[in-house]
Amino acid sequence: MSSGPVNQTRRQSAFDAADPPEEKKYLECIHCGLCLPSCPTYLEMGNEMDSPRGRIYLIRMADEGKIGITDSFVKHMDACLLCRACETACPSGVQFGSLMEKARGQVERKYKRRLSQKLLRRFILSVFPYPDRVRAMLKLGRSSQRLGLRRLVIHGGLSKSLQIMEELLPPPDEVPADIPLPRVTPAEGTPKFRVGLLTGCVQQVLYPQVNAATVRVLARNGCVVVIPREQGCCGSLQAHEGGLEPAKAFARKTIDAFEQAKVDYVIANAAGCGSMMKGYADLLKEDPLYAHKAETFGQRVRDALQFLHQIGANGRYGPLPLKVTYHDACHLVHGQQIRNEPRALLRSIPGLQLIELKESDFCCGSAGIYNLLEPEYGVRFLERKVDNIVATGAEIVTTANPGCELQIAMGLRKRNITMKVLHPIELLDMAYQAGIAPRS
Ligand code: SF4
Ligand code: SF4
Repeated sequence: MSSGPVNQTRRQSAFDAADPPEEKKYLECIHCGLCLPSCPTYLEMGNEMDSPRGRIYLIRMADEGKIGITDSFVKHMDACLLCRACETACPSGVQFGSLMEKARGQVERKYKRRLSQKLLRRFILSVFPYPDRVRAMLKLGRSSQRLGLRRLVIHGGLSKSLQIMEELLPPPDEVPADIPLPRVTPAEGTPKFRVGLLTGCVQQVLYPQVNAATVRVLARNGCVVVIPREQGCCGSLQAHEGGLEPAKAFARKTIDAFEQAKVDYVIANAAGCGSMMKGYADLLKEDPLYAHKAETFGQRVRDALQFLHQIGANGRYGPLPLKVTYHDACHLVHGQQIRNEPRALLRSIPGLQLIELKESDFCCGSAGIYNLLEPEYGVRFLERKVDNIVATGAEIVTTANPGCELQIAMGLRKRNITMKVLHPIELLDMAYQAGIAPRS
């Protein structure tokens, strides 16, 4: 190993040696600025340091030891949505998501946050990756809604985050009771594939009907659907917030669970989880036991809509005469480059009218837990999204990520707009049900 200038730079760096943002990745930025018009935070805040180019510059300056991990550095890293719209726009192929996750990992280790912020992050990250705790929080949230408990928390910043947390919760009549799903669901007709379904932490508690619809639609398309009981969180929230070590532990557990299930494909119906699992190879590349496993695992991961489009979903749909608009979840369109497949599937439903949404791939402000950590900005992005949704005149808005569903539904509720928010797979499932001839 050379002891030349690279080691010299590392000694001076503001970053430590545990997963620093990689020099070769930030040097791929040629400062062209083509990403700027796609960056929601740059467009809203109008500040170069809140653009992808600005943030890459800050990361480089910190790595070269020219700046430290200061309040200002952290402010610009925190303000990023990690929506990865800049990756779609970038002609140089800069892997911005990886750079930002690693920069945030350094921040979490080396920067002293205010106690209230530290507690809020710790609380959120110790609840959301665990479905039982999400269930308990749902109950607590309902009591808080009834009793106004959040008003007991007098700290201004925390109060706003807790207010959003309460407001995000769907009304009780919109959350179905738990829908138990069998470990193995047989294929309808001749089995063609054996697939494993990641049920997701938030998805299985707040949107169990989405998982149930996914199982039915996959089975209808010749899949034996396995739900490994040993699966846990995919690790995406931890990774987004710089918790790379817990994210690695979740990733290893997920890989093991689906390996044991011996499936051909691993299916995700939450964009954030699919994007995370496809990226396990980068996360675990230094792990001698899991680097290879992570690579082969990632190649088997498919988003549910991507998979159905790829295998040519059977078109025995009945008519759904509905006006629908589609919001591109960031981690589907930018994280996985899946833009046309959901639209093609929706358009194949007879009677369904798909109305294009202006700025459909502009973040809704949910962005993992951004809406809770940066509530003022989260609301600004949401208002812009809801304005565009309302302008379509659609009766249903559909999107393939539970965080976006929660966020958009909250925005619509606050304006008393009775528009339904559904996952596209629910519409496919409804179309299949409509295609079943009633028995005489
Ligand atoms: S990830 Fe999104 S918010 Fe962050 S710099 Fe890129 S485009 Fe901007
Ligand atoms: S588009 Fe890519 S290369 Fe150009 S400034 Fe943005 S990140 Fe850098």
